[in-house]
Amino acid sequence: MFKTLLIKYGEIGIKGKNRHLFEDALVRQICHALKKVDGEFSVYKEQGRIYVDCDDDYDFDETVEALKCVFGIVGICPVMKVEDRGLETLGQDVIHFLENVYEEHNQTFKVFTRRARKSYPMESNDVNCELGGMILNAFPGMRVDVHNPEIMLHVEIREKIYIYSRIIPGPGGMPVGTNGKAMLLLSGGIDSPVAGYMICKRGVKLDATYFHAPPYTSERAKQKVVDLARQVARYSGPINLHVVNFTDIQLYIYEKCPHDELTIIMRRYMMKIAEHFAKETGALALITGESIGQVASQTMQSLAATNEVCTIPVFRPLIGNDKQEIVDIAEKIGTYETSILPFEDCCTIFVAKHPVTKPNLNVIRRSELKLQEKIDELVKTAIDTTEVIRIE
Ligand code: ATP
Ligand code: MG
Repeated sequence: MFKTLLIKYGEIGIKGKNRHLFEDALVRQICHALKKVDGEFSVYKEQGRIYVDCDDDYDFDETVEALKCVFGIVGICPVMKVEDRGLETLGQDVIHFLENVYEEHNQTFKVFTRRARKSYPMESNDVNCELGGMILNAFPGMRVDVHNPEIMLHVEIREKIYIYSRIIPGPGGMPVGTNGKAMLLLSGGIDSPVAGYMICKRGVKLDATYFHAPPYTSERAKQKVVDLARQVARYSGPINLHVVNFTDIQLYIYEKCPHDELTIIMRRYMMKIAEHFAKETGALALITGESIGQVASQTMQSLAATNEVCTIPVFRPLIGNDKQEIVDIAEKIGTYETSILPFEDCCTIFVAKHPVTKPNLNVIRRSELKLQEKIDELVKTAIDTTEVIRIE
């Protein structure tokens, strides 16, 4: 019975010209998300509202699932849209609505009318009372409760009249594309896909960089990262995934530098290379899945050491989260199952048994001097041979 969905979005802080940009971006993202769903949809703005009109045999659940991935949406309301043919007819429409949507009719309710069309001949409160009376007549088991009703029946009087009672929560946030782009360092772990999701939620478009070390890391490990990128792309839209062959750089660091500093030095080169691609593609920041103290390379000293090589901001949205909190989000967004597949990561090969936990920057820089001879060339080769995979 629902051929129309009313899209609710957060309005705080989006005034004037920005509001327009926000709404247009939201419409674009909704259209994009619905491309994957069978059926014809028409998405439009009308009087500060966004609606989705659906064709006759669209799949309701699939459509709602797709919309739940669109940042900026606060609520999805399945609405019945009716013509204005006077109060009597509206009363019948409302009763018809309750008959169809609810199996039993013994709940408490409240009618909440909004009169966006000011020329409508009655005040909102009078409409509430009249419709409430008609409902009580039609369903003797129902009762009015204006404070805490089980059914909040919304009646919005516009050019047409919209009736709804259910608000399905959306993901919140801001539409992707309203806040520029960032480069996600995406590994096959649990954390980085969640970090990408969190920044994307604030309207930031994503690209990603993955470092692999064939033949030490397998094709399956790479495929896992592609799969994770695809899951994140359900929220972020298309991602250009840069797959960097890191093997020679890693071997060279292993050969020249103290093994307990390997992870830190490696991470510094990852950041540098990711920053190179960020600048090349117009991304204004890097994103990592780091969280204070989680592993040796994420102590305060280690974070300072990896951060030091970056000239653009590094966003670490999980910095204050416990592992379990990150796992909870990973499960919610559907990346967890893929993340825990047991494939090796380039950070886990050649790894020292006792890595430094309090790296001293001067010591690290001194160790890196030992790389002078070949490192620039190796970095250049890694960049030049990077494969870019378009993830839709
Ligand atoms: P994750 O679960 O995200 O893999 P982690 O707990 O394994 O994180 P680290 O291995 O220290 O932690 O990595 C910290 C961050 O560095 C990751 O969240 C990710 O952003 C980035 N990173 C690590 N390894 C890679 C890689 N192979 N390719 C791209 N980015 C990586
Ligand atoms: Mg990892």
